[in-house]
Amino acid sequence: MSDRIPVQIVEIAEPSTFKKKPASSDRQIHTRSFTGLFRNLRLAGAGFLFLLFFGTVWLNWGGRQAVLWDLADSKFHIFGATFWPQDFILLSALLIICAFGLFAITVFAGRVWCGYTCPQSSWTWIFMWCEKITEGERNQRIKLDAAPWSLNKLARRSAKHTLWLGISLLTGLTFVGYFTPIRPLAEELFTLQLGGVSLFWILFFTGATYINAGWLREAVCMHMCPYARFQSVMFDKDTLTVAYDPARGESRGPRKKEIDHKAKGLGDCIDCHMCVQVCPTGIDIRDGLQMECIGCAACIDACDSIMDKMGYARGLVGYKSEHTLQGGTTNWLRPRLLGYVTALVVMIGALVIALQQRPMVSMDVIKDRGLFRENNAGQIENIYTLKVINKTQQAQHYRLRLLDAEGFELHGKTEFSLAAGEMSDLPVSVAMLAERPQSSSQDISFELIDTDEPGIRSVAHSRFVAPLNR
Ligand code: SF4
Ligand code: SF4
Repeated sequence: MSDRIPVQIVEIAEPSTFKKKPASSDRQIHTRSFTGLFRNLRLAGAGFLFLLFFGTVWLNWGGRQAVLWDLADSKFHIFGATFWPQDFILLSALLIICAFGLFAITVFAGRVWCGYTCPQSSWTWIFMWCEKITEGERNQRIKLDAAPWSLNKLARRSAKHTLWLGISLLTGLTFVGYFTPIRPLAEELFTLQLGGVSLFWILFFTGATYINAGWLREAVCMHMCPYARFQSVMFDKDTLTVAYDPARGESRGPRKKEIDHKAKGLGDCIDCHMCVQVCPTGIDIRDGLQMECIGCAACIDACDSIMDKMGYARGLVGYKSEHTLQGGTTNWLRPRLLGYVTALVVMIGALVIALQQRPMVSMDVIKDRGLFRENNAGQIENIYTLKVINKTQQAQHYRLRLLDAEGFELHGKTEFSLAAGEMSDLPVSVAMLAERPQSSSQDISFELIDTDEPGIRSVAHSRFVAPLNR
């Protein structure tokens, strides 16, 4: 028998070049199931994400839902702390920190976010698992696709879509549960008493999950996600990406396990296509770095298992930088990465300090539209409304006074209490004691002090207006 081995010669792309492929959304991708280190890491990442998403919404803290964005009252409760619209600058800072974190991790290891923790990928993996348990392994699914409609096909398809819809409904309910208390929401939904806005949003997110994770899948990553488009500008020659080592793999071709393939001029790639069959986006990693690659590392696990079977060293497909593919070494401590990490550390530090120093009482002063008036005592008087928010989790007692305002007198309620998280509008007036004002407009400051904890205070500034000629 001839021991000649067909060798396929391929053009190897520059690793940093993104190749355009025909859209995979126009072909059905059936992935092969596999096991391995990176699959386990991804399961752990997705498991953590699911636990966080589905579990946190059911936690209570201090007698109320632990994490709740109360849209009606414009408050965000998170584990005993309440944030008001005035604090949303902190939320913006948190989002900027997350963006920098994503940039840093992308410079370091490419699309690990996409592969391991992105909700789109994680929900897609769950939906693919549903597909596997209802319609069988890859070959069975391909056969089922091609088969005419039968009772068996109908039953399997119905089971798959029922599971998909069940997970989608849970996802929609949970998502809306972060904005409307989840317990009454779930009770009303499952007793068919829910209506109006909440029902609309639950159905909306149910539909979005079902379509995105069940039907669109990798098309979302390729055509809808902006991150897939701009990630390439963050990559450098030391970024770790999932890559095939052509110097080691080529020339590729099938062979018997026991032959000395090097002596036959063959590389380590046996051209088994396992790396293609497990790929959720249906690409061939051996064609070089491609925009469709979400960095899930499924092809690493698949290829490593083949290398084990052949008795070759693992890592023909692995996390590699362009420098290592060119025979060099990866430079870990590079300025761009250090810059992102430094910016990240500084921003996290600043956010922690800002959170610690967040005022626990806030006061805004709104001057009445009328400029001034004369009161019963013949004094010039200005009217103000003070908006006071108790941001603590307990009732507090406050004292109000004017700051450095010689010649002025504060009239109205100067001592009052607010319940935990209460917001109150307090009308007050300020009277000028002098007969003749020095100027038509003067600065005036109000100070609010917590009588039990004087460290809790707020100062708000406004203007006092008076006529120069009386
Ligand atoms: S090429 Fe590999 S890492 Fe990229 S999407 Fe396909 S299986 Fe995942
Ligand atoms: S799984 Fe490995 S050996 Fe098989 S085709 Fe892919 S790169 Fe080659």
